[in-house]
Amino acid sequence: MAKRSCIICGGATGSREHLFPAALGGRRVNAGIYCSEHNQALGPGAAVLAKQLRVINSILMVESDRDRKVAHYPVTVEDGRTLNVVGGHATLAARFDVTSDTPEVTTGTLNFQTDAQFQAWVKAQHDAGNRVEFGERQINPPKFYPGPRLELTFGGSNGLRAIAYLALTYFAHHFADAARTPALHDFKAYVLGQEAATRAGWAPVDAFANLPVNPFEFGHMIAVGVDTNGKAKALVSIFGSLNFAVDIAQLAEAEEARAMATFINPLARGAPADIHEVAIEPGGLGTVETDRSQQTLETAIADGIMQSALRILFEKISIYVNRRDATPLLMRLENIAARPVSDRSDAIATLLNEQLPTTMILQLCERVVSGLKLAFGATPETVPFIAMLDELLAFDPVRPSGLSENTETLMPAMRDIIGQQLLAATAGGVISIDILVEILAGERGARSISEMYVSVLNQLSNQLSADSSLDRAGS
Ligand SMILES: [Zn+2]
Repeated sequence: MAKRSCIICGGATGSREHLFPAALGGRRVNAGIYCSEHNQALGPGAAVLAKQLRVINSILMVESDRDRKVAHYPVTVEDGRTLNVVGGHATLAARFDVTSDTPEVTTGTLNFQTDAQFQAWVKAQHDAGNRVEFGERQINPPKFYPGPRLELTFGGSNGLRAIAYLALTYFAHHFADAARTPALHDFKAYVLGQEAATRAGWAPVDAFANLPVNPFEFGHMIAVGVDTNGKAKALVSIFGSLNFAVDIAQLAEAEEARAMATFINPLARGAPADIHEVAIEPGGLGTVETDRSQQTLETAIADGIMQSALRILFEKISIYVNRRDATPLLMRLENIAARPVSDRSDAIATLLNEQLPTTMILQLCERVVSGLKLAFGATPETVPFIAMLDELLAFDPVRPSGLSENTETLMPAMRDIIGQQLLAATAGGVISIDILVEILAGERGARSISEMYVSVLNQLSNQLSADSSLDRAGS
């Protein structure tokens, strides 16, 4: 493509602008849309998107095209320490408790969660020219924290403006001449934050009904086009779930009616599997009225626009993450399944002790306990059982394990239950990822853990009634 002038000021272009923000997995650049000044002026738009979508990008482990790093974010937990969350998994940030500090020597206790974290700290000290002497080293059992919830804050005037910025960039990419006509003046002013009139808004899922199906599991889509009336518009879909419509402009000059859709796969690491570009019917961009009320995601959910879309997205994410996290266990289990039956039980127990993260068991337990609470309902008869359940699954930041005594006591039994399920599943000498996920994070595992909780509740309630009849007998 020939070099063109900046679509905003007409100045020289040349800065390699990511068409889709690098932090969100965009891998393609176009050097002919913005001058470096306007590329910078519009940078905050990409940053807003990256920030608002950081949690999902991090869980899906989308790599930024700039540094090939997955977005991580800090979460402060009850005891004041900071968790670094990447890919849905939390790591404790390193901590240095200083006991004495002079200009020459700083002494104290260092806390690291992993050896890699320790090595990185040592290297950083070395690079900074500090000499480090080590005293005693102590290995503590891991401490658990309630995991961060999958939450998303999106929309508002900044989020919508950022969506309009994406629409402008792709419009300029596909409609180079039209993007430089005066008709776009107001739209550009809005994108630059100079004019308040909102041009982008949430769109219902059915606004996208006439577009091709997104070929990527968590694909984004940006469709831009000009319809037969010379109206330039765009539809933008983030993760195939958060949908927006953008009014770009009524073009003054004749422009052939056409439209292009670009599907972007944020999980791809590079060309050619990162995008799929296809010409679409200009009518597919629809005539949907955009809601321009600068809504936040919360109000869009409350108004019902986003409710089902977001629920489906979160379900898809959790299925994807469960499969991804179960995959390392699958390979070892396949080997175990191929062994003689008599060897399997011990091998599975060893594998689960070494490789099944307690967080995975706790997540399953949380699901079961909230399901049981729902099933019990809140009646005077069930109140004591709900209280017992709360005691059987509780975090306790004061204890070294981070778990309440009851919860910690139950963990080996939970591991056994999962082991028995896996042993049964390998009876035929093979195991599939679907069955593994069913046991670790699905119905199969939930059912057997549920039975375990119910039997513990029965024991406790028998004990309680025995105690109270003893009391009565004694009185
Ligand atoms: Zn410019």
